[in-house]
Amino acid sequence: MSNVDTAEIAKFSELAHRWWDPNSEFRPLHEINPLRLRWIDAHVPLAGKKVLDVGCGGGILTEAMAGAGAQVSGIDLSDKALKVAKLHLHESGHSVDYQLISAEDYAAQHAGEFDVVTCMEMLEHVPSPASVVAACARLVKPGGRVFFSTLNRNPKSYLFAIVGAEYVLKLLPRGTHDYAKFITPAELARMAREAGLDIDELIGMTYNPLTKLYKLEADTSVNYLLAARRGNE
Ligand code: SAH
Repeated sequence: MSNVDTAEIAKFSELAHRWWDPNSEFRPLHEINPLRLRWIDAHVPLAGKKVLDVGCGGGILTEAMAGAGAQVSGIDLSDKALKVAKLHLHESGHSVDYQLISAEDYAAQHAGEFDVVTCMEMLEHVPSPASVVAACARLVKPGGRVFFSTLNRNPKSYLFAIVGAEYVLKLLPRGTHDYAKFITPAELARMAREAGLDIDELIGMTYNPLTKLYKLEADTSVNYLLAARRGNE
């Protein structure tokens, strides 16, 4: 059985043609992109690194990492999102190796090949996030870095990420997120440790609806990012 929810893939595929429209459903991903790129690059300077973006979608972060000088591959299970990602390379002039394959299958072929693996805003859409985390840990070299971002699970994250973002502010289409699939930082940290990763940093990402600005800060109650590394064997 593969670790994929086809209804989730269909949701992203249906919207994929608007992926690069900064005023579309993907606006939040465009807006958080400089922030997360800088955060990753501060942990590990991306220039010259071999990087894999797991659940890359239309390639917003993937291309930005290529733009920072990394040699980047992107994988996803939405054929439509990948088609959009490939088309966009013609516009941007960046070069990325995009493939339609699961993280688990890709890990079976490319274990230990990457300096950096990123998996952002994806774990909350898969049946077994632990299996994806383990695949990311296999894909990275000893000493390599892995970066995740996802949504916390508590009453505040329900209120902000679902009621606020989908119903009140309408930043995201209704049904984008399923509360039951949200992951607490403790759960994610445990998945990472069980996959042989050491945690470097856990940091929150907040959105201020008045200023419409996103910010990285200590508050991990809704959106958060986790930086980890595979130990040197
Ligand atoms: N990581 C990108 C896109 C996030 S949207 C970014 O942050 O900019 C979530 C993506 O996860 C979608 O492209 C969706 O197709 C993908 N996805 C969902 N389930 C998946 C799975 N089981 N395997 C691979 N990709 C998956």
